[in-house]
Amino acid sequence: MHEYSEKIRDIAEKLLKNGTVDVFIGFKKGTVPMMNEPVLISDPEKVHTLHWDSHCALNLCNYLTGRTDKIGILATGCNSRNIMTHIVENQIKREQLHIVGIPCTGMIDHRAVQRAVQFKEILDITEDKDRLIVKGDGFEEKLDKKDFLQSNCLTCAHRNPVEYDELVADLVPEQEGVSAYEDVTQIENMNIDDRWDFFRDMISSCIRCYACRNACPLCYCPTCFVDESRPQWVGKSIDPTDTMTFHILRAYHCAGRCTDCGACERACPVGIPVRQFTKKLNKDTLELFSWEAGLTSKQRPPLDVYKVDDYNDFVK
Ligand code: SF4
Ligand code: SF4
Ligand code: SF4
Repeated sequence: MHEYSEKIRDIAEKLLKNGTVDVFIGFKKGTVPMMNEPVLISDPEKVHTLHWDSHCALNLCNYLTGRTDKIGILATGCNSRNIMTHIVENQIKREQLHIVGIPCTGMIDHRAVQRAVQFKEILDITEDKDRLIVKGDGFEEKLDKKDFLQSNCLTCAHRNPVEYDELVADLVPEQEGVSAYEDVTQIENMNIDDRWDFFRDMISSCIRCYACRNACPLCYCPTCFVDESRPQWVGKSIDPTDTMTFHILRAYHCAGRCTDCGACERACPVGIPVRQFTKKLNKDTLELFSWEAGLTSKQRPPLDVYKVDDYNDFVK
């Protein structure tokens, strides 16, 4: 991963100096371990702040919306798919972008690491090939990185960027035969009351902070339906009905567009597995339309198009 950081800095410096891009979007090391922060750099003298490791799990596509300048941007598999979706949805133009592809081996679940060290304060965490070295006051733990990957990364079938202008490293092997939807199938197999209870319990600690929405590159509406007051579509309280309305409607807005990047879940301050909503819709769009979001910039998502020969009975 350190090789990635050096290569990223070299590429960003080159692109900014030769005028290919006006700004470069990447990550810098966070002030708190495992919390790297997105950074926008326009001064080639500042590329030394760019950093890459397995804690760069926010979605950089979030910073592209509506920009009109020339942009260099890092893109893992999932981030590149969100960029394709942004292009399809006219949020950015392909010709504005210089996509620097990151062959990705997965991001670390920071909550799992915290659990592994019994919630002791982590002061430093480094990577040595496949190991994480976690240090705090009076302790040092060595953990196998593969045991601490985010759940979306464990089943990711598109670790390489789907489109790029250059790569920071050779492409990595894709994970074959992974089953991404076992958890969804389990929920589908519940009876309707149990399913409702499952989702009601899941969101019971939601504080309606909207960090999940704000972390998601799909949520770029100038005014989100939850913030509208004329008309007010949904109450602003943490009443379970209001909260469920927010989650279900947001999930439907993501149908056929979600890349399962995990940024929403990572951003949630109370650890709600909000991907349980979007994963069901990802599974449905795969089964009904053979569609996975963001694999191309040439085709709109299935729920975004209408054809007279659509097979649904209600289309006459
Ligand atoms: S979902 Fe895939 S591409 Fe995205 S961070 Fe995880 S492993 Fe990488
Ligand atoms: S809903 Fe979550 S997993 Fe899907 S694209 Fe948005 S942030 Fe990523
Ligand atoms: S980030 Fe978590 S707590 Fe905040 S609105 Fe989303 S699910 Fe609720």
